[in-house]
Amino acid sequence: MFSYRHAFHAGNHADVLKHMTLLAVLRHMTQKDTALTVFDTHAGAGLYRLDGDYAQTSGEAADGFLRLLSEEKTALAPASKGKSAITKVAEAPASILQDYLDLVAGFNNKPSQRVYPGSPFIVQHLLRDRDKLKLFELHPTDAKTLSANIAQLDAGRQVAVLREDGFEGLKKFLPPPARRALVLCDPSYEIKSDYARVPVMVADALTRFATGTYMVWYPLIPRPEAHDVPRKLKTLATRAGKSWLNASLTVKSSKLTTDEAGEVQRPGLPASGVFIINPPHTLKAALQAALPQLVAKLAQDEHAAWAVDNGG
Ligand code: SAM
Repeated sequence: MFSYRHAFHAGNHADVLKHMTLLAVLRHMTQKDTALTVFDTHAGAGLYRLDGDYAQTSGEAADGFLRLLSEEKTALAPASKGKSAITKVAEAPASILQDYLDLVAGFNNKPSQRVYPGSPFIVQHLLRDRDKLKLFELHPTDAKTLSANIAQLDAGRQVAVLREDGFEGLKKFLPPPARRALVLCDPSYEIKSDYARVPVMVADALTRFATGTYMVWYPLIPRPEAHDVPRKLKTLATRAGKSWLNASLTVKSSKLTTDEAGEVQRPGLPASGVFIINPPHTLKAALQAALPQLVAKLAQDEHAAWAVDNGG
C-alpha cells in the first residue's frame, strides 16, 4: 500500500498554488446557474491540522501557507529571469490570493490559523444546493478520515466518498447529468505509473466529455516523466481543439547540494504546476497578478520564479 500521506505536505507551496487556482476556477464556474459536478480523483483526508504531528514533522506548511500570513516579504530579486523576475510586489494581495487567504481563515478561529482545508473542503465550501461533489480516495486510512470529516458536514447525497481508483472511477460518471463538470486530478505521483496515467485519464475523459474543465497538478522535479505531464496534456488539448492554461511556481533550485558534513542533500519539492484544459477566460490575468506575490513570499533562493502560458 502507499506510504504517501498528504498530512505531511498540507499547506506547502504546492498546495498554495493548487488551492488558490482551484478556488479561482470554481468561483468562475459557479457563476453560471446550471448544476455543476466536481470530481476530485485523488482527494486525500479533506482537512488537516498544521500544528499536528505530521505537519510539524515536515515543516512544509511553515514554508508555504504559513509564510503567506507573515508580514515579511522575501528580499530575493532574481532580476535576470525575464518574465519571472520579481520587480515590484503590490501591497494588497491579488484578488484570487486574498480570496484563498479568506477561505482558509474561515476554517479557523482567528488569529490562530491551524486548520487547513484540503481540496474536498475547498470545493464543498463553494457548492450550491444543485451541485455535486464526488471524492475518490484509495488509501484506507485517509478514505476513512475523509468519510468522517465529510460526515460532519451533513451534506447528505451532495458529497460522495468513493474508496476507488480515481483514474478508473471517473469514467462511469462522464458525461455528468447537466453536462457541466470540473475534474481535479491531484495524484501523489508516489507510483511512477501515475505520470503516464494522468494523460491517459484526461484523454479518455475528453472523448466522453469534451467540454469539461480538467485541472491537473504535477510536480516539477528533475525527472523526465514529470516534465512529460504538461507536455502530453498540451498535445492532448491542442489535438482536441481545446483551450489550455499552464501555470508554475518555483520556490528554489532543483539542484542537489552538499551539507557541511559532505552529505548530499536533495532539495525536496522545488516547484510544481497546474495544467487546466478549458480554463475560465479570466484565469490567466488573475494568476499573472497573484503569482509574483507568491514568489515574493515563498522564495527560498534566487531560483524562485513563476510562469503562465496558455493556448487554444
Ligand atoms: N487533492 C488533495 C488536496 O488537494 O487536498 C490532496 C491529494 S494527495 C496529493 C493524493 C491522494 O491520492 C493521497 O491521499 C493518496 O492516498 C491518494 N491516491 C493515490 N493513488 C490513488 C488512486 N489511484 N485513486 C485515488 N486516490 C489515490
